[in-house]
Amino acid sequence: MRRIEEVLDGAGRICILGHIHPDGDCVGACLGLYNYLKSACPEAQVTVHLEPFSEYFSFLQGTEQVDHAFPELPPYDLCFVMDCGDRERLGPTVKYFDSARRKVCVDHHITNQGFGDVWEVQPDASSACEVLYSLLDPAQISRDTAECLYLGIVHDTGVFKHSNTSRRTMEVAGQLLEKGISPAYIIDETFSKKSFAQNKALGRALLSARLWLDGRLVAGVITARDMEELGLDSRHLDGIVDQLRVTDGAKLAVFLYPSNESQQEWKVSMRSNDKVDVSRIAVSFGGGGHVKAAGCTLRGEWTAVVDQVAALAEQQMRETE
Ligand code: 5GP
Ligand code: MN
Repeated sequence: MRRIEEVLDGAGRICILGHIHPDGDCVGACLGLYNYLKSACPEAQVTVHLEPFSEYFSFLQGTEQVDHAFPELPPYDLCFVMDCGDRERLGPTVKYFDSARRKVCVDHHITNQGFGDVWEVQPDASSACEVLYSLLDPAQISRDTAECLYLGIVHDTGVFKHSNTSRRTMEVAGQLLEKGISPAYIIDETFSKKSFAQNKALGRALLSARLWLDGRLVAGVITARDMEELGLDSRHLDGIVDQLRVTDGAKLAVFLYPSNESQQEWKVSMRSNDKVDVSRIAVSFGGGGHVKAAGCTLRGEWTAVVDQVAALAEQQMRETE
């Protein structure tokens, strides 16, 4: 696919979906496309269906129109799936995907094997927002759309810091700046700022941390009890694994929190500082992601879960030594 316009094909009813626990890139890509389509094809009826996301994103144009209730609706003519590596990660919105007449996937996960009818997966791109930018007509990108895309890039690159930041990423960010957005506002208010609950969660997770593999792996946890006591939900937990990751000597950081679906299950977030490919570890447990950032869901005592991850990480470390 070269341009998003190629797949529109006169579609009257369009929906836009993303992954469960939507992060900045997911929200930015969904609302970026929403705002673009609103002006590029005003005759179409476009709806975004997403799980609830951080209130810090609510300044983005279109947030108020996002549906979080997931009612039963007639099939859509066209369904876009943004920043989502596989069908299962669509969670409760998968029904709109399954019933849509045409399905288009825009993503950057290396573990995305392609699904739907048409897909544009660029594993080298920093973010789904960077992929989406490559499919849009730059002249038609409004300030509202640019804000969404810039926010997504900022979040997935950790403010242009992670190794997924390329020359192209910076060039796209530069183009978006020229649309009149305020980068300082987006960085400070949606990325750096932490609510009191978020900081308490970070503190609790750091206090729980332990070292594996002679300090090469650091892991921390937030339990269901912590969530209840501190009044947390999964939206408060973004960024914790990144703080674990900067531990001196750690090649790998792992963060566990209770998965939504069941109290018996952990959502496992992994980050690599070095040669370990965490997407391989995630895939072997049925998850996915990127070489340096990936996730999966696992059962058991939290330290036993980390033991399993550590065993695979150690195997990879030995292979690359
Ligand atoms: P995070 O640790 O921030 O939740 O996720 C890191 C990356 O891995 C993100 O790009 C996210 O979409 C992906 N990821 C996390 N968990 C899963 C999972 O269970 N399945 C797949 N396919 N990708 C995941
Ligand atoms: Mn992403």
